[in-house]
Amino acid sequence: MRARGQRGKGRAGYLLLAGLALTLVGAERPPGLGDVRDVRTWSYPDYTRVVVELSRPVELEADPTVRLPANALAERPERLYLDLPGIWVGRRYSDGLPVSDGLLQGVRLGQNTRSTSRLVVDLERYEHHRMFTLRSPDRVVIDVYGEARPIHSKAKAGREDPGKGSNSRLSMEIRRLHTVVIDPGHGGKDPGAIGIGDLHEKDINLKLARMLAQRLRARSFKVVLTRDDDRFLNLEERTAIAEASRGDIFVSIHVNASENKNLRGIEVYYLDEEHKRHNLEVAARENGVEPEEVDALQETLARLRVSEASRYSESLARYVHRDLTRGLAQTYGGVSDLGVKKGPFYVLFMSSMPAILVETGFLTNPRDARLLRSDTYLEVMAAQIAAGLGHYRNGNRQQANTGSGTLEGMENDS
Ligand SMILES: [Zn+2]
Repeated sequence: MRARGQRGKGRAGYLLLAGLALTLVGAERPPGLGDVRDVRTWSYPDYTRVVVELSRPVELEADPTVRLPANALAERPERLYLDLPGIWVGRRYSDGLPVSDGLLQGVRLGQNTRSTSRLVVDLERYEHHRMFTLRSPDRVVIDVYGEARPIHSKAKAGREDPGKGSNSRLSMEIRRLHTVVIDPGHGGKDPGAIGIGDLHEKDINLKLARMLAQRLRARSFKVVLTRDDDRFLNLEERTAIAEASRGDIFVSIHVNASENKNLRGIEVYYLDEEHKRHNLEVAARENGVEPEEVDALQETLARLRVSEASRYSESLARYVHRDLTRGLAQTYGGVSDLGVKKGPFYVLFMSSMPAILVETGFLTNPRDARLLRSDTYLEVMAAQIAAGLGHYRNGNRQQANTGSGTLEGMENDS
């Protein structure tokens, strides 16, 4: 499922910016304002992402997006609007960007006051939305979710495709664990960490991800890869693919690096929703931001409700970590185990499913680099991560049946 990105200026003649205070636009631009650099949308069957890229960050409290009902008299559809203080857009997008994907009619952007721009999303179909901001570059993101369309199938009742339907809208407690999204980190122009012998992280990530996909399919999981070749995905595209896949579990694959070449071993991360400043270096590298910008990420995290996914993510991380370290210890003797950790990762919090990030070793350590070069080693890793996901699925089933705690059930489930 690939995003259909829409860039640039919309065709003229789309809805006029009625309702926006355009009288102000003729006025001189006040000094010190930021600009709108680009507006992009990513369309999927039941989900559309709107991204407004800015030349500087905007200060937004909670989610200030306002939803307005359709106004038949003014011939205006149901819509969302959001004011962007300190941003100048002028008339550049006054014709609006048509989207017409079944969820959104289009996106408009205009100068609402001399120092505030207003983003309007004209809706066709709406269930809920979320808004958040990102840094590097500065962006405002609105994700709009539509109610899943009923599946008009000629198949007999009860033969519904288990990958479709509203499973991903269910609470995580009663969700079937069916679809796994595997996210091989980096790709294309972004090599990720570069290690001993010019080993590129992106290549190892992809190789392991493909092996893992095979192992999971053998366990009758449905698998979606965020990339299946050597291509660059920006973060908004990567996470939009995950979000649109209606996945139940998200696994991001990475390889670590350190200035200290003695450092080696495996780490499994899950999302940190608290303000803990651990693991900043790793988080910054995998997020593609500077360490000081991880704070801005934490603010975004605090605004999004991630606690439910976070609880399940910790359990998922523990299952995968246990199987990974046990399996490698059996096959390869000593495994350097750096444990289960919390970290603030964009790729993790932007997905609404339990999510982990596996750091499979250090490319900067001679022993790890040698192991990671070996297909046999990667196959063992893939098999063990898959086993961990299988145990997590079983644990959740048991929990659903008996109401017992996930982690207690875990020890009896080898
Ligand atoms: Zn990485």
